[in-house]
Order: sequence, then C-alpha cells, then structure tokens
Amino acid sequence: KGWDLTALDQIEEFDTGRAAFKSATWRSEPILATEEPAEGAEVLPVTNPADPSDVVGEVMMSSKADVETAIANARRWQAPASTRGTTLRRAADLFEENAHEFFALTAREAGKTPKDAVAELREAVDFLRYYAARGEELKDPARGTFACISPWNFPLAIFTGQVAAALAAGNAVLAKPAEATPLTAALGVRLLHEAGVPRDALQLLPGAGKVVGAAITSDPRIAGVCFTGSTETAIGIDRAMAANMDPTAPLIAETGGLNAMIVDSTALPEQAVRDIVNSAFQSAGQRCSALRMLYLQEDVAERFLEMLKGAAEEMGIGDPWHHSTDVGPVIDARAENGIVEHIEKARAEGRLMWQLGTPEKGFYVGPTLIKLGGIEELEREIFGPVLHVATFRSDEIDAVIDAVNATGYGLTFGLHTRIDDRVEHVTRRVHVGNLYVNRNQIGAIVGSQPFGGEGLSGTGPKAGGPNYVARFTEPMRIASQP
Ligand code: GLU
Repeated sequence: KGWDLTALDQIEEFDTGRAAFKSATWRSEPILATEEPAEGAEVLPVTNPADPSDVVGEVMMSSKADVETAIANARRWQAPASTRGTTLRRAADLFEENAHEFFALTAREAGKTPKDAVAELREAVDFLRYYAARGEELKDPARGTFACISPWNFPLAIFTGQVAAALAAGNAVLAKPAEATPLTAALGVRLLHEAGVPRDALQLLPGAGKVVGAAITSDPRIAGVCFTGSTETAIGIDRAMAANMDPTAPLIAETGGLNAMIVDSTALPEQAVRDIVNSAFQSAGQRCSALRMLYLQEDVAERFLEMLKGAAEEMGIGDPWHHSTDVGPVIDARAENGIVEHIEKARAEGRLMWQLGTPEKGFYVGPTLIKLGGIEELEREIFGPVLHVATFRSDEIDAVIDAVNATGYGLTFGLHTRIDDRVEHVTRRVHVGNLYVNRNQIGAIVGSQPFGGEGLSGTGPKAGGPNYVARFTEPMRIASQP
C-alpha cells in the first residue's frame, strides 16, 4: 500500500486518520521479557521539536537493573525460519494498519513532514518484509543476543530495520532507541509483540546512552552490536566491544558522512537544482546521506546559484504537521545550537551566502548556503539544513574527488553531468558506498538500492541489501571425513 500525497482523496484520508492523534500522548518504558521495570526509575517528558510546549508523552528511563534483567532473560527466537518470516510479515501488516498513528507520532516526536512520515513507514514495512524473506533463505544459525542501537533521524525505519534483521536471523534483540524518540520505538515493539515475536526475543530499553548503551555494548553475554549514529560513538563502541566481548562479535555500524556532489557545466540546470535542494534540505538535512558539499563548475556557478536560491526561497519551513511544510524542525535545542554556531562562524568570516528565515518557536534552523574553498575546510558533519558551496575548473575534477576521498568518509556522492565518460571516470575514482548520477542523493530504497558507506561511514554490509541479515548469523562450516 502506498500513501500518495499528491492525490486529494488520499490527503484527506491521511488527515482524517491522523487527526485522532493530534493531541494524543504515548508512553515508553522498559519492555522486559518477564518482569516489570525496576521501581523508582526516572520518568521524563517527550516533547515536540516544533513546539516544545506540546508534550507527546513520557518515557521511563531504563535503570541498570532493567538492563541486567533484560540481558539475563534474553532468549534466541527458536521458531523455524518460516515462522519467523510469517510473524515479521504480520508485523508489517500491523504497521500499515496503524499507519495514521505512526504518521502523527513521528510528526510530533521527530518533526517528520507528511512526506517524510510516509517514506519512513514505507521503509520500515519494506525492511520487515525484505528481511523476513532473507531470513528464510539462511542456512547458518543465529549468534545470540544482539544490541540494536538506533538514531532519532529515522526513529521508525532504522529502528525497525535493525530489529527485523536481527530477529529474521533468529537472534534475541535488546533494542535501545535514541533518547529523543523512545515513543515511536515503543509503538513498533508493541506491534511486533502483537504479531507474535516472543517477549524474550525482543525487549525494549529506552534510556540514556551512558546507562543502557554503555552496558549493552560491553557485556560478554552480547553476541553483536548493530549501531546507527555518529562515527565518534561507533569508534567508542568498537573499543568497548574489543575490551569486553567475544573477539568474533560483529559491530554492524552505519555512521556519518561528508557527502559531496559535483555539478558540471553540461548538467541540466532545472533537474540539478531540484535534486540539490532535495538532497540538502529534505528532512531538514538530518540524514546521514544528505548533501553537505556542492561543487559547481566555475563557468556555470553564478547562474546555478541564482536558480538554487530561487528554488530554496520557495520552501516552506514550519510545523511538520502541515502539508505545505518542506522543512521541519531540527531534533532539539542542542542540535539547533550546534548548527547555528557553525553558521554564525561562517557569517563572521563573511562566507554566509544565503539563509531562509525561521518560525519563532520550536527548534528551527533556516536552510543555509555557505561558501567554502573546498571540503577540506569542513571540520565536521553538520547535521542540518546547511549546504556548503565551492567552485571548480574543468581540469580540477580529479583534485575535487581526491579531496572528497581524503576526508576518510565514504557514504553518498552525487554527480550531475551529461558526459558519459565522466560518469565512468568518477565512478572509478570516488570511494563511497552510494553514488547517485543525475538524481538526488538521498532516499535509498530497500531491496533495490541497498544503503551504506565505507571508511569512516560504516562497516557494511549495506542495509536493505542481500547480505545484511546474514551478518547476524554465525557462519558455520561443517566438514566431515567420509
Ligand atoms: N537511508 C537514508 C537515505 O538514503 C539515510 C539513512 C540515515 O540518515 O541514516 O537517505
């Protein structure tokens, strides 16, 4: 099922359906196999990034005791692969049946616009069905208990993808959702349980990274960790695992990127501009795949920039509940401050080229263009709607690609050109996981466009690809003498 938000009747259905949840509240708490969460835990409000006075629900933070209970009671999902597959597909159906609740919840908890909310549910459902099928093809056994640590930028899709892959292979899962988005995760887990996933095979541990994350990435009873988030955190997890866990325990990490796009003078301006705006600013730039560094060929740069500003000027920024909103809020005050600090530095240095104004309340950062000499001047990944722009001469393409490679990241790369040889040349030279030619560079699709980077951007295998679920198994080889 799709939700076509260009069709009037479907927009109406979308709006009527989610209206019931406009002021609903949700609750997240440790969901343990057998016991109630330990008493006296901290309970915190969860608020809407577009309007912090809108309380979306509350979260009971997992205590150390809850984490211990969860680890001790985790049991592999022993059912045959076909039963697991059927159960995960049933969960996919339940996710779809509860679509409106997810649309409302992800809008209010994570600032998802209607378009983003639909894409997110679609991807979660695709992960469930795709990994269910891959799990049924496996020959190797599960590893044991997996820690799945997911990010707030895809509170439903990436959360579900990690959990579904680990479960499809027959593991037990301890799921730790991002601190900002525990409510969406809790609804997902409740539906997975309702579909028939045993409670001891899937437990939810909302809470602090320092408490829950630290414990489940350094416990010898954990068989592997699946993590999506910052490169820095992934490196910390890698160290903790090496010091405490079985040396064969895998870390499956999807991390950051410094993603570039080259637009040469043969590119189709209208198409390139649309793809640039979409790649840099959709989801308020809060995608690890998002375009951060645009290289425009010198002779067309001025014309492109005018068009780019013109197109960006038309974007609607505001409450993600509304269909007219293209850019919603960033996730919280800390994110806003970090991005604004970067922009203010550029302003002070005279490099701020353009910026869209923002609504008064809520954590908003207006889409911004900043001039840079090149990607080597970009000190860190700016996780928001900020696009850096540099120019290049036609004889500098290799130097540009080498500079992109030299960052050490390798997630997405975009190329707009109508020179076939150039496509081939760039493809061979650039080191990235996902290369997009003459299109936008976000929005990978489960099954047909597996997603994941190399170098500092991730360990592989690609999410939504044929090898992903297999990584959650213990490759077993049996040899015997005749
Ligand atoms: N899969 C997403 C995309 O293709 C990005 C995932 C992420 O931001 O972690 O845009």
